[in-house]
Amino acid sequence: MKYTCWGAAKQVTGSMHLLELESGFKILVDCGIDYEDKDNKEINAHFQFNPRDIDVLLLTHAHIDHSGNIPNLVKQGFKGEIICTEPTAFLLDKLWIDSVNIQNNNHNRRQTTRLYGFKEVKDANEQLLTVNFNQNISLNSEVSFTFHEAGHIIGAASIRIEVKEEDTLKTIGFTGDLGNPGSKLIVDPTPMQGLNYLVTETTYGNREHKEKRSPEDVLIKYVTKTCVDQEGRLIIPAFSVGRTQSILFTLKKLFNEGKLPPVRVFADSPLALASSNIHNRFSDYLNDEAKNYKLVDGSLFDFKSLHLIEDKSDVEDMELYRDSCIIVSSAGMLEGGRIQHHISDHIQNPSCTILIAGFCSPGTLGAKLLEGRSTIRVKGNDKYVFAKIDQTDVFSAHPDTIGLQDYFEASNDGQLTKLFFVHGEEESMKELKTLLSDNLKNKVTIPSKGEIFLL
Ligand SMILES: [Zn+2]
Repeated sequence: MKYTCWGAAKQVTGSMHLLELESGFKILVDCGIDYEDKDNKEINAHFQFNPRDIDVLLLTHAHIDHSGNIPNLVKQGFKGEIICTEPTAFLLDKLWIDSVNIQNNNHNRRQTTRLYGFKEVKDANEQLLTVNFNQNISLNSEVSFTFHEAGHIIGAASIRIEVKEEDTLKTIGFTGDLGNPGSKLIVDPTPMQGLNYLVTETTYGNREHKEKRSPEDVLIKYVTKTCVDQEGRLIIPAFSVGRTQSILFTLKKLFNEGKLPPVRVFADSPLALASSNIHNRFSDYLNDEAKNYKLVDGSLFDFKSLHLIEDKSDVEDMELYRDSCIIVSSAGMLEGGRIQHHISDHIQNPSCTILIAGFCSPGTLGAKLLEGRSTIRVKGNDKYVFAKIDQTDVFSAHPDTIGLQDYFEASNDGQLTKLFFVHGEEESMKELKTLLSDNLKNKVTIPSKGEIFLL
């Protein structure tokens, strides 16, 4: 068989992997949006293969950089099944609709290309087929696959594919995005066994998570200091799927256990609200702590001082509120979304803290704040930075370099011959390679986009 990395080669976004079997059967694993193609005029608009030729799409998880170009694939003729877990299917619909709204908005403002519309989202939804974890499913007499828990976000899978060619069995695993062991709500990743080839994410290949305290202790520290001692506002930019839920769940526990006074919390993201409902509905997919909490309490996220921002009148109420509070809003890197209003309103307020809860790509507003700039441009205005800017990696949804190395060792059970590094910056991949044991180091390949490997 042939393996080609068509996306997330030496970069973090745009995941897309093509497997072509000798029989001609073609499997695509993930089909994400490449964030580096900002205008959607090149990589995202044109596939380097004919979408009509793809027989089946296996999807690791719902994040847009893995799933966001699927409706475009359908628009350009892909007719096969899109196979994923049930929580992923429910998240997809919300994320794709959100993606159409963003594309329409950008098209009107900046003349960027619209990749697809609501019709293609509906068509793609009709091609979805959901499967459970840990079930081996045959696609035909030569190929079968199994979804394993990847952690990362609810419903996220690593996919193990078995291919029979000329009487030999070849096994290739795709990690998708892996979770950080011990994460709030989310299960730990389960390494795949008996692999010949592993295509793995390397997001934090050369980085170690610094925060050693628990999410509870981190939030107690920031809420007490900012909202109680300084009577100010704590603003936490967070992705709508995954991180917002981890933060709200931790806050709910702290309030219920009386470890924090009932400070008002605004969750300002309609997508986060939809995503929270999906977490409650599919709580069986979460870790034991969350499952038990749901059984006893009935809900993972709602608490008395939580105000969900759904419509215009909620926004007005929030803007009139002047006391100390916590605001959790998207997007995580502060590029676009409702968070920009909050940054614009509070960046010159010295009693406000902006707690950045994750990695910010270079060039994003989040990265500029973390550089310690004294002024920034937000919503078209230059503003002084008087708010306190801080960062925590305690809610990270990816393993760090140690977590990745442990995962590789656990996957290396004797038959592994090649390890393909994808979904990371090139420098970070090269450094990660040097950190591996000699046995693993020699197996590492860093594919370029479009490079073909005969397996
Ligand atoms: Zn992801």
